Amino acid sequence: MSQSAPRSLHDLGYAGIERELAADGVKRHHAKALHRSLYREGNLDLSRPDFLPPLRQWIERRVGGEKGFTLDAPEVVDETRSSDGLTRKYLLRLQDGQTIETVLMGYDNRLTACISSQAGCAMGCVFCATGQMGFVRHLRPGEIVAQVLHVQRVIRADMPDRRLRNLVFMGMGEPLHNYNSVMHALDIISDCRGVGIGPAFISVSTVGVVPAILRMAEEGLPYNLAVSLHGSSEGERSALIPVSKKWPLADLVEACRSYGATTGRRIFFGWTLIAGKNDSPETAHRLVDLLKGIDSHINLIPLNPTAGFDGTTAQTAAALEFQRIIKEAGIPCTFRQRRGIDVAAGCGQLKANRLHKTA
Ligand code: SAH
Ligand code: SF4
Repeated sequence: MSQSAPRSLHDLGYAGIERELAADGVKRHHAKALHRSLYREGNLDLSRPDFLPPLRQWIERRVGGEKGFTLDAPEVVDETRSSDGLTRKYLLRLQDGQTIETVLMGYDNRLTACISSQAGCAMGCVFCATGQMGFVRHLRPGEIVAQVLHVQRVIRADMPDRRLRNLVFMGMGEPLHNYNSVMHALDIISDCRGVGIGPAFISVSTVGVVPAILRMAEEGLPYNLAVSLHGSSEGERSALIPVSKKWPLADLVEACRSYGATTGRRIFFGWTLIAGKNDSPETAHRLVDLLKGIDSHINLIPLNPTAGFDGTTAQTAAALEFQRIIKEAGIPCTFRQRRGIDVAAGCGQLKANRLHKTA
């Protein structure tokens, strides 16, 4: 038996489970029942009477304590619900005590999970509560998958006639800074034998990690790409997003152009509107020029106030004018629904509020 630190079964997809069983002399076909139990049924108790003896014995020998494998079963330390009950935000505690945010959003008749890819974030965007906390660590694939399983458990318990349809990486962290874990987690999440969320319903949102955007295109990954732009000149953008100095706007737009050309997919550009910073008609016109030739959709996001940033969201008139200019140029442009602001659903805000409360 291996003496190394226990690993999580939730880090393993179908092939990984087969491999581990085979390594211990258990026939590969037992992987089917274990995979189904972990990912389709979301079980955290693996003492299932329906498992055949070889699998049952392997679990007894290998899962739990120091036996080799653990499960990712994050503990809910805080939960907030929006007044209409449709948005629920969870602060989840991981095995090492780190906390991350996971949100269930219910609108337009579909349920969406918004999940985290890191504890904290290294990118330092000035308006973002997670950025203000700094980077703690990357999440493992199992810690990413476990957030989706948690949301599915909530749905099964409270809304049994509904199912999770969409997944977005818009919680804490920069998913393309944790590329391998995120993509491995997405392999597990999109496997139709398990969690089964189709790639077309999964969006990876990035601050603009240029090499990783190119890598996604090169590897032919089938997920939607959302790019948080927030500025249409280098100065405007890097005042809000410090890493724009590392991956300049011009390079980012070129990477998006290449991504669009290679994949044939539309890119969703996120734009958090901040009064006096990036909400002027000139900015909007420059944005239109910048995105010429790229199949784009622009999502306008109202700024959620955070303790560490004294900016305010754009006035309604400015926001509508901004939208008008973009739409008039033929680029689809919508406002992201403000669902959940009453539960501090902005990125990193539940954790930030709790830190303030306990400080
Ligand atoms: N790191 C990734 C994904 C997580 S952030 C990214 O930056 O894209 C998800 C989205 O929330 C991003 O578009 C980000 O700009 C936005 N966001 C962060 N803080 C915000 C705030 N205080 N108000 C509005 N949008 C915010
Ligand atoms: Fe990180 Fe995204 Fe927040 Fe920027 S907006 S600090 S990239 S989580």
